[in-house]
Amino acid sequence: MKDTRVKVLSNKKISHVYYKMALDAPYIARTAKPGQFVQIRCNDSFEPLLRRPFSVHRVNGNIEILYETVGSGTEILSNKKEGDKINILGPLGNGFTLPRTTNGEPRAIIIAGGIGAAPLVYLAEELTKKKIKTIVLIGAKTKNLILCEKDFKKATPEVYVSTDDGTYGSQGFVSKLFHKILKTTESKFETIVYVCGPHGMLKCIADICQERKFKCQVSLEEKMACGIGVCLGCAVKTKSGTKLACEDGPVFNASELIW
Ligand SMILES: Cc1cc2nc3c(=O)[nH]c(=O)nc-3n(C[C@H](O)[C@H](O)[C@H](O)COP(=O)(O)OP(=O)(O)OC[C@H]3O[C@@H](n4cnc5c(N)ncnc54)[C@H](O)[C@@H]3O)c2cc1C
Repeated sequence: MKDTRVKVLSNKKISHVYYKMALDAPYIARTAKPGQFVQIRCNDSFEPLLRRPFSVHRVNGNIEILYETVGSGTEILSNKKEGDKINILGPLGNGFTLPRTTNGEPRAIIIAGGIGAAPLVYLAEELTKKKIKTIVLIGAKTKNLILCEKDFKKATPEVYVSTDDGTYGSQGFVSKLFHKILKTTESKFETIVYVCGPHGMLKCIADICQERKFKCQVSLEEKMACGIGVCLGCAVKTKSGTKLACEDGPVFNASELIW
């Protein structure tokens, strides 16, 4: 983990609330694993005081983050221009565990809800590099909030979409789509599910996985302050006691969590 001042290579608005920022951070690009995150100081002044956590979205010599503007920190980030410099700490946390594979076994199902797509594109790329059969389900409230469909499709042909209002893909929550996909794609191989999104969605997917006896890893986007295990602000209740989302997570086995 390193604290570095890095150059903004690009910062593009990709829809009305989502942005993609590329950062010249070769050390993080070399060392980050899918599911790990960085802490970004959005401003050189003390406003906002705390760094903000963002998943490593993609790596390609540099890193990319994908973010939603929700408050002061992300609003400031959205105004950064190519050539600006920002302080970034990372890679942080424990990312997803990728399975060992033989002969196409097991299969992975990635489920992204809204901005929860951010850490999952890099994961999809790494899974398919390991020749693991990967299915991706993307859910959002409405068509123009669907994220990363093209990026996921570059990694795997099996990408399915749902929108709550039915404006694109299947109508309903992505958990409904998950049920549907499970009916049509029975597998003799073990299934591992990777999921990131709103808390209610994570719980719902975790419940389905428990019923089906699937392994399930969830990435929790808890509110966090320091990001390095000092402030204890991101405590998570687990069956083996209280853990910290920043240090022990943000990825946890769903079966370990007390929901
Ligand atoms: C490990 C981790 C990885 C993350 N990865 C990403 C990512 O890749 N892309 C992305 O857009 N966001 C991600 N987040 C959430 C992101 O950190 C927050 O949206 C950001 O800190 C908000 O900062 P702000 O100053 O703009 O908003 P604030 O002014 O701090 O808050 C504005 C609103 O957003 C809510 N909010 C703040 N933090 C969070 C949070 N962690 N989760 C949900 N709601 C929050 C607040 O309750 C408030 O309603 C991640 C969070 C964690 C813990």
